[in-house]
Amino acid sequence: MIIIIKQDYEKEQLDSLTKWIKSQGVKIDASKGEKNLILGLVGDTSKIDIDLIRSLDIVENVKRIQEPYKLANRKFHPQDTIVDVSGHKFGGNSFQLIAGPCSVESEEQIIGIAKAVKAAGANILRGGAFKPRTSPYAFQGLKAEGLKLLLKAKEETGMPICTELMAEKYIDLFQDVDIIQIGARNMQNFDLLKAVGKLNKPILLKRGLANTIQEWLMSAEYIMSEGNENVILCERGIRTFEPATRNTLDLSAIPLVKEMTHLPIIVDPSHASGIARLVEPMSLASVGAGSDGLIIEVHNDPPHALCDGAQSLRPEQFEEVVKKVDVMLPLVGKVRN
Ligand code: PEP
Ligand code: MN
Repeated sequence: MIIIIKQDYEKEQLDSLTKWIKSQGVKIDASKGEKNLILGLVGDTSKIDIDLIRSLDIVENVKRIQEPYKLANRKFHPQDTIVDVSGHKFGGNSFQLIAGPCSVESEEQIIGIAKAVKAAGANILRGGAFKPRTSPYAFQGLKAEGLKLLLKAKEETGMPICTELMAEKYIDLFQDVDIIQIGARNMQNFDLLKAVGKLNKPILLKRGLANTIQEWLMSAEYIMSEGNENVILCERGIRTFEPATRNTLDLSAIPLVKEMTHLPIIVDPSHASGIARLVEPMSLASVGAGSDGLIIEVHNDPPHALCDGAQSLRPEQFEEVVKKVDVMLPLVGKVRN
């Protein structure tokens, strides 16, 4: 339920209304709409008399929200949420580039790639330390050692870092990580979502391989309902019947998600296509569709990468993508900052 408050409300009246709502065991998420204050009610609102509230002097309108996601709902929060990562903003008219290897492989590798992607224009460094692999025999990541190397790269380049947390037991190792990624395979790991919901840190929530947009937004709701509203969504392709690409990039999800939620959304064209030469066209298409950023896999030696070499760009190819993205950004009213 949302309550739209009249523009010229008296503070005392608002205080007594919010006090009464809270006494009904319902939480309030207040946000500023274009003109009016909006009170979003979270919890069991079935006992709240909608006509009674509508009749109050300070109330302009009351609406029931049909969708099961509330805090993530655009109706609750009409303005875009801006997630700030050390001054780099996700959402609104900002556009961000996250780049780096699929996995951290060595100090030389991660620092070399960090410097290269920074020089090409990336603002944030990615790199997996804990890797969710289909095969238990495949490289699983350098784990804690990989995180140390990422932090070293952060220190050397000044770039914030984004890396995946696979299980709650490792959460303490992630204190200096700037964006915690929840990977596609963990999108519905509800205990993990609740755990990162208790942090005060940006979370990159990837869409599950076979999850609907509504399920994805419900996963965002899990994080937000624990108090962490710094959620960045990431469309990374979904499973379809088409085997020619690793996944199928759901481009239409971008404008649709923007109608449904106030949260920022970025695209991962690397995992979406699985093919390096498709990364540039899919990046440009994502910009055109209104994405708030891109996360792109870049490796100095893709044929020898320990993970996802086939979809990784060389630094010079990444630089070409950035140049073309920059040409397109003014068309969609966005700036890189
Ligand atoms: C990754 O970012 O390297 C990754 C494993 O992504 P996803 O969870 O989208 O497959
Ligand atoms: Mn990868």
